[in-house]
Amino acid sequence: MNNIYFKLMRYSGFPLLFREWVQRNKVTILMFHDLDAKNAASTFLWLKQNYHLIGLQEYLDAVQNGISLPKKSLILTFDDGHAGNYQLLPFIKQYQIPVTIFLCSDIVGTHRHFWFKHSKELKSNHQHLKKIPNAERLEALKVFGYEQTQEYEDRQALTNDEIEEMKSWVDFQSHTCFHPCLPQCDEATAREEIAVSKQHLERDYGLRINTISYPNGDYTDRDICLAKEAGYICGITVDYGFNDLHTDLFQLKRISVNDARSMDELIVKASGCYAFMKQLLKRKHQPIVKQK
Ligand SMILES: [Zn+2]
Repeated sequence: MNNIYFKLMRYSGFPLLFREWVQRNKVTILMFHDLDAKNAASTFLWLKQNYHLIGLQEYLDAVQNGISLPKKSLILTFDDGHAGNYQLLPFIKQYQIPVTIFLCSDIVGTHRHFWFKHSKELKSNHQHLKKIPNAERLEALKVFGYEQTQEYEDRQALTNDEIEEMKSWVDFQSHTCFHPCLPQCDEATAREEIAVSKQHLERDYGLRINTISYPNGDYTDRDICLAKEAGYICGITVDYGFNDLHTDLFQLKRISVNDARSMDELIVKASGCYAFMKQLLKRKHQPIVKQK
C-alpha cells in the first residue's frame, strides 16, 4: 500500500515541482537513522545527482561568512550512532558523500542500549514514554529490563574503533549522552546531557563538537540556552521546513526521510512534499500551537 502511494506521489510530478520551486533556493537537511546498507548506493547516488550535497560544516561556514550556497543544497544527517552506520562507510568514501552523524556519547563505544530500541514490547509504549517526566520514564523503563548504564549482550551502537575509522570521512556531532527527551528533563539533567555529551565526544575521540541534534527533535528555549552555554553554535530540530543563511542556527529545520525503503519513497520524502502534506493535515486537525 505504502509502495503504491509513494509511486503515485513520485509520478504525480509534485516532488519535482517541490525540488524546483521550494528547495531550489533553500538548504534542505535530511534526517536518516539506520539506513540499510543495501539501499545506500542508490540513495546516495540519486541524491548526489539531483541535489548539491554539502556538509553541515560547509553550511555553518557559509552562514558565518555570508557566502551564498549552490542551488538545491542538501545536507545528510543520521541520528543516534547506530551500529549499522558503519556499513555505510564504503559508500560514503566511494561516492564522496558528506555526512553528519549525531552520536549519543555515552551509548557509542559500549554495549548499552538505545532506550527506544531496547525491546519489542517497549516499542508499543515508546510514544507515551516520550511524554512523561524523565525520572518517571527511567523508572518505567526498568519494568522492561532497561537501565541506561547497563551493558547488554548485543551491541546497538557504533564502537570506538568504528568511530575512529570513520571520523576522517564523517562529521560526528552530539545527540546528548543517553537520548532523553530534553523538555522532560529537569534543568540539571538537561544541562548535563547537553554539556557532558560534547565533553565526552571531544575527550574520547578528539572531535570538534559544535552542533547538537535534539533527541526526537524535542527542545525548549531553555534547552537552546543550555546548548549555547555549553559552547555549541548550532542545534538541529525535526521542525518541518527548509533553511537559508538567515535561519536561526539553534532551530534548523529538518526533513525526516526515515530510512526510506524504496526509491519512490526516498524521492517523495527528500523533496519535503510528504512532510509538507503531513504538516497541512496536522494543522487542519490541530489548529493550535506548535509543541516544542
Ligand atoms: Zn535520536
